[in-house]
Amino acid sequence: MKAVILCYHKVGIESEEGRWLNCSPENLMSHANFFVRRNFNYFLPKDFAHSITSERNSKRVCFTFDDAYVSAVQNAPPVLESVGFRGCFYAVPSLVGMSSLWDGERARPLATWAELLRIQSAGHEVGNHTFTHPKMSQLDYDEQLREWQLANEMLRDNGIEVQSGCFPYGDWCHDTLKSLRNSGIPVGLQLGKRPVGDEPTVCLPRVIVSFSDRVPKLIYKIWVRPKLRRKQ
Ligand SMILES: [Zn+2]
Repeated sequence: MKAVILCYHKVGIESEEGRWLNCSPENLMSHANFFVRRNFNYFLPKDFAHSITSERNSKRVCFTFDDAYVSAVQNAPPVLESVGFRGCFYAVPSLVGMSSLWDGERARPLATWAELLRIQSAGHEVGNHTFTHPKMSQLDYDEQLREWQLANEMLRDNGIEVQSGCFPYGDWCHDTLKSLRNSGIPVGLQLGKRPVGDEPTVCLPRVIVSFSDRVPKLIYKIWVRPKLRRKQ
């Protein structure tokens, strides 16, 4: 299987969300259309738990949105659904309905439980982005396990069927993978600047999409840059 996992954050117009960690809805639409033209199907992170790697010739793209910002939860689903795709939104349960305090002065509103349930019922996945959004590698094993477990509990108490996890800042260590697995979650997402290869499912690589990434830049980031790196 040829699989690409993309990592987005906010999805809004520049005058409202700026450029930092943002992708405009129009740009997201052009990305989705590109994959449709190339005969890619979408898949969700939770699908990796049921090993779709046997589908040798299929091409899959996975759209993920870290932090479950209001802008992403409101603007990305209509874009993806218009081409028959769905995405995954990673929520930080202790701050749902509040704002991304870890962003400091650039904090933006985070989706409410009602909004998360609404997109889940439309077929999107909502995942675990830890309870408080820490740098996981700076915590010991027990603290990391607690981050995953508390988040799982609060997500489930609020009706979310959590089946995958995503590391804040893409930061992880061996204990992050072990604690994620031991919290009962078989799929984890890091950042890795390359398509999915033969990594374990608890540490799948994603390509970060930035504000100015139109389709040619996206092609470069997904397929050209990893090859250039290998040659170095
Ligand atoms: Zn995050």
